Order: sequence, then C-alpha cells, then structure tokens
Amino acid sequence: MTSEKIIRAVPKVLLHDHLDGGLRPETIIELAEKQKYKNLPTKNPKELAEWFHRGANKGNLVEYLQGFEHTCALMQTKESLERIAYEMMEDMHKDGICYVETRFAPILHLEKKLHYDDVVDAVLAGLERGKEDFGVGYGLILCGMRNMKKSLEIAELAVNYRNKGVVGFRFGWRRRWVSSKRSFRGFSIYTKRKF
Ligand SMILES: [Zn+2]
Repeated sequence: MTSEKIIRAVPKVLLHDHLDGGLRPETIIELAEKQKYKNLPTKNPKELAEWFHRGANKGNLVEYLQGFEHTCALMQTKESLERIAYEMMEDMHKDGICYVETRFAPILHLEKKLHYDDVVDAVLAGLERGKEDFGVGYGLILCGMRNMKKSLEIAELAVNYRNKGVVGFRFGWRRRWVSSKRSFRGFSIYTKRKF
C-alpha cells in the first residue's frame, strides 16, 4: 500500500473544515450552468481543479479567498446548500474521516433572499442525510463577521441551533475581519455561556 492509501484508510477526525472550500469541480460547473453563473475561469473540471489548487498554493490569504467568491455565489439556494453539504460528507467518508466539524458564514448565503434559518436548515439537512448514508459524524460551526450587530445575530442563531447539530460559533470568517481582541473575547464569553 502506498503511504497515501494508508493515510486515506486510517480513521481520522477533522476539526477544521470550510464547507464552501471543498466543492467538487464537477458540482461547481453543474451549478454554474443551472444558475446561469458566468464568472468561472473555466468550464473544464480538470482545469478548474487546477485553478483552485493554484490559488490555494499562493501563500496569500486574500488571493486564496478568491476561490470562495465563486463557491459562495453558487451556494445561494436551499437545493445547492443541501447538495454541497451532502457531497462533503461523502467525500469525507472516502477520505477515511469518521467525524468532521465544518464551518461556514450564513450571512454570505442570503443573496437570493434566503433567511438565516433556511440556510442553516438546508446545510443541516445535507449533513444529516450524509451521516445516515455514510456513517460520518458531524458538527456545524457558524461564523460571524466583523460587524458586531450581525455577529451577534449569528451567535444567537448558533445558540438556537445548538441541539440540532450546531456545535459552535466563530467571531470572524476571514482572519482580518476580527477587528478587536476585546470584542472577540466578549463574544467568546457570550457563546461559551450559552453553549
Ligand atoms: Zn479556517
């Protein structure tokens, strides 16, 4: 067995995964076609995968995050959110992950007028269906934003869903959005108490 095969086969726990960072290239292209999204750099799955890998290897967080603009743009319907969460669980299973904690920022998925609850319900439905089909456990972490008022909304959303699969809340999403250590600490205390 090659070392890659051994690593894949060993049961693993993944505690830091970004839901919008692991889409299959084929799924991205299919969703773009369905949703008439024209901004992808290519419609060839192999080239698209290479494009994302290049971005991930730039060593520059801002450039790396350009990829997320495409994936987030395609994750604005209940159907796509459910599908992406489900496929993530299948991919985890294939990689030998037995428990995954995945995170995303609900606020980035309201462009087509979904409400926070719709977004979280759709993701949880996909995760749950994946758990049933592939036997992978999961926890969902909701990310807030730099904006204090909006972050408080997301913290409350996380608390409301704490018995339904949400296991945590994170103040920022992109590191640079965390503007003040003091406010971050305040949120940590708030969510720790509630959880
Ligand atoms: Zn991260």
